[in-house]
Amino acid sequence: MQINVSQLLQEAIGATREYEVNEATDIIGDGKIFKVHGKCHLLRTQRSILVKCALSTEVELTCNRCLGLFRHPIKLNFNEEFLPTVDIISGVPLPQTEETGSFTIDEHHTIDLTEAIRQYSVMAIPIKALCNKDCAGLCPKCGKNLNQGKCNCPVQEIDPRWSELTKLQ
Ligand SMILES: [Zn+2]
Ligand SMILES: [Zn+2]
Repeated sequence: MQINVSQLLQEAIGATREYEVNEATDIIGDGKIFKVHGKCHLLRTQRSILVKCALSTEVELTCNRCLGLFRHPIKLNFNEEFLPTVDIISGVPLPQTEETGSFTIDEHHTIDLTEAIRQYSVMAIPIKALCNKDCAGLCPKCGKNLNQGKCNCPVQEIDPRWSELTKLQ
């Protein structure tokens, strides 16, 4: 997920580049490799390179109800500024700003999108993940995954407190 921007850094302010991203990587550091694809637009500004990406990928999640693993597609749309760490002409290290959390362009004039993609992917993961909105979940008695068919557990007895009500029906 690396883009060399040494040419772009030597161009005038306002110069741009378009990059096609199509790469398989371990997106959130869980050992699962998924393809990331889409486009990134790079803009040379006075002090940095502004990177605007529109990417699609997938992550593997565990369903909250049935505990099954499933693939969840996510969209990553972000704008991030990458600040140079060395002067493009002289190679002299630049004084670093105190801005925390901003990304940097390394001493080889390379932008690495891996960390930005990881951060935005983590943010895109739903807190309550369901493999399917109609997921039947697990049987509370035997633990069978009810998406794979009914289990043999007896149908739940009616709570005696409700029995009077059912007689009325
Ligand atoms: Zn499920
Ligand atoms: Zn059961």
